[in-house]
Amino acid sequence: MAAVFDRIAIIGVGLIGGSIARAARETGAAGDVVLFDRDTAALKRAGEIGFGRAAATIEDAVRDADAVFHCVPVGAMAAVAAEIAPELSPDTVVSDVGSVKESVAKVLGAALPGVHVIPAHPVAGTEKSGPDAGFASLFKGRWCIITPPPRADATMVERLSQFWQRLGSKVDLMDATHHDRVLAVTSHLPHLIAYSIVGTASDLEEVTKSEVIKYSAGGFRDFTRIAASDPVMWRDVFLTNRGAVLEMLGRFTEDLTALQRAIRWGDGDTLMREFTRARTIRKAIIDAGQDSASVNFGRNTTKAEE
Ligand code: NAP
Repeated sequence: MAAVFDRIAIIGVGLIGGSIARAARETGAAGDVVLFDRDTAALKRAGEIGFGRAAATIEDAVRDADAVFHCVPVGAMAAVAAEIAPELSPDTVVSDVGSVKESVAKVLGAALPGVHVIPAHPVAGTEKSGPDAGFASLFKGRWCIITPPPRADATMVERLSQFWQRLGSKVDLMDATHHDRVLAVTSHLPHLIAYSIVGTASDLEEVTKSEVIKYSAGGFRDFTRIAASDPVMWRDVFLTNRGAVLEMLGRFTEDLTALQRAIRWGDGDTLMREFTRARTIRKAIIDAGQDSASVNFGRNTTKAEE
């Protein structure tokens, strides 16, 4: 099968960039994969693993690329775009994998006029970082949400969709603002709660750290896995999706207060109703193939969705 893009450049060879490079190689979605990272040790390691050719400079990496993927934290997107702008041809597709879309669309669009900027977000990941964390099957059966700007070239959007489908993803097209609201509740808020609850537990003076760790199986362990996610990535997510996260946080706080009141007043009916409703949502996620029903979520390590 012919490659979707003859040459792709991946800027940032961490978990997501490394996984795209491996999957593109394995599936033949790209003819040639060129890599760049500002972290010279990560770039060297990526070259050693062999999922692409490590370029000496960012300009070398993107020159003659048909598609460039920004696989860096959301806060670094503008800097990367400014660096590569002079090297791009009008036919180049510039995309990204950032977890927030409206702000990324704005900064890439402003820095790269006259280029096909088509932001995207693969809704797949783990709490690990770096080139060794990536794996080719990361995107299999997972959604990739593409958020084309209003006047995006339909042919290029289709090519990008084909690329992600070749990596094994299911593709959805969505408005960037809508994406940010949906992900605020499905991903960003859960991470904030995890960071917060792990902090609360470790601050409790009457519970020693060893007890928190020893009895972690009671739900806390799953929060610690989520809270082990990269701090730089998540700082940038909350700073750039502030409005949607604050809105969802407001709703969450109200709902939590309602549960708090039900506990105080011994209102078992309310608790039963809310817990039963949550159970049906869990079943819907399993039925949709987005998680496993097996013990320990079918995970034998620490893999999780972003
Ligand atoms: P990662 O493993 O930490 O890798 C990011 C790499 O980009 C690092 O090597 C970093 O180097 C490099 N980098 C940072 N700024 C750069 C710059 N200006 N120029 C060149 N390289 C630069 O991160 P990741 O988990 O792959 O996440 C990358 C993106 O994917 C983020 O935007 C995130 O929102 C999105 N995403 C992540 C997940 C997930 O589960 N992790 C899932 C979906 C989407 P330094 O170490 O020197 O900073």
